[in-house]
Amino acid sequence: MKPIYFAIIGYGGMGSYHGQELMAKEPEKVQVVGTYDLSEDRQVLAAEKGYYSYTSYEEVLADATIEAVLIATPNDTHKELAIQALEAGKHVVCEKPAAMNTEELDEILSVAEKTSRRFMVHQNRRWDPDFLIVQDVYQKGQIGEIFQIESRVQGANGIPGDWRHLEQHGGGMVLDWGVHLFDQLFYLTQSPIKKITTDLSYILGDEVDDGFHCFITFESGLKAIVEVGTTNYSKLPRWYVKGTEGTMKIEDWDLTGELIAATKDQTFSPPTPIQAGVGLTKTMAPPSEEATKRIPFLEVPTFPSFYENFFEVIRHHAEPFVKNEEVRKVMVLIDQVLSNEREAAEVHLLESV
Ligand code: NAD
Repeated sequence: MKPIYFAIIGYGGMGSYHGQELMAKEPEKVQVVGTYDLSEDRQVLAAEKGYYSYTSYEEVLADATIEAVLIATPNDTHKELAIQALEAGKHVVCEKPAAMNTEELDEILSVAEKTSRRFMVHQNRRWDPDFLIVQDVYQKGQIGEIFQIESRVQGANGIPGDWRHLEQHGGGMVLDWGVHLFDQLFYLTQSPIKKITTDLSYILGDEVDDGFHCFITFESGLKAIVEVGTTNYSKLPRWYVKGTEGTMKIEDWDLTGELIAATKDQTFSPPTPIQAGVGLTKTMAPPSEEATKRIPFLEVPTFPSFYENFFEVIRHHAEPFVKNEEVRKVMVLIDQVLSNEREAAEVHLLESV
């Protein structure tokens, strides 16, 4: 069966990664014919990789060999580019965030429905090995009932690039990283949110958030702390997961960390008090060796890649692995986080008058 012929729209950091890595790994499923980028330099670079250089988006859309486009441009351009492609009869793979807000996403989805074309969002961090390990522990109950998850990404380089600093282009870390971390939590818990409190940071003086904290309570009772930081010269673990009978910590994408569970069905002598600082504590003394066990992390399974799934969706009407209703839930949450922030700013203004 013939592969799906693609044009990449926006051959920047992520567009080129799709072409050279993600799509290149699935040559029987997807093939890149050409690219279209507003930047001449990026077009030259793409041509050096052997891709045809389209001179306009209209030329891409008029090319009958192109069955699908990948949109990997700044966030504010996704809606228009996606709608034009769908109306021209192309399927669309779109980088996250799908759009600037739920209203825009709904416009795209209604055109996709009207034209019977597929619109699929690249929520790639569902494939991250660290996330799959957390999901495994969550499902197996190895550390009892999980009552709190802390999910963090932290860097020390500020907001990268150009457009990510600007609100009009959909910059800021809520739209950039929040969309991944919220998607993972929704996908993991499959639970609606009961309550959310947010705190966005503007440490470096940008007009958009350079990080944030979100405190989420799910209707299932699980609580989560989601944090993104761009001025963290020393990092906290990527994941810290607390269960009633154990704790898991994953330090980073290198998968270092530990999964420690209480040894059940045995009685142990209580921990002996330790000297801590200038005091003594029994509460904070480590449990005895026999009272806990270390469990190895899951051997991360292989399963169909994003593009393998996209191929199956287009050619065999398979279920998309990333469903639009899931993408929409994340977008609604992001709207809420950003509108909380605007309301908070208004309150500050009133107080300072
Ligand atoms: P980038 O700035 O590196 O690249 C964007 C490219 O789009 C640039 O080359 C620019 O010239 C081009 N461009 C801008 N407007 C255009 C238009 N109207 N038509 C054609 N080309 C246009 O940005 P990036 O980091 O590659 O981010 C692009 C998208 O990918 C964003 O939506 C971002 O959120 C997403 N992204 C996703 C991941 C992920 O892991 N899923 C990682 C990074 C970026």
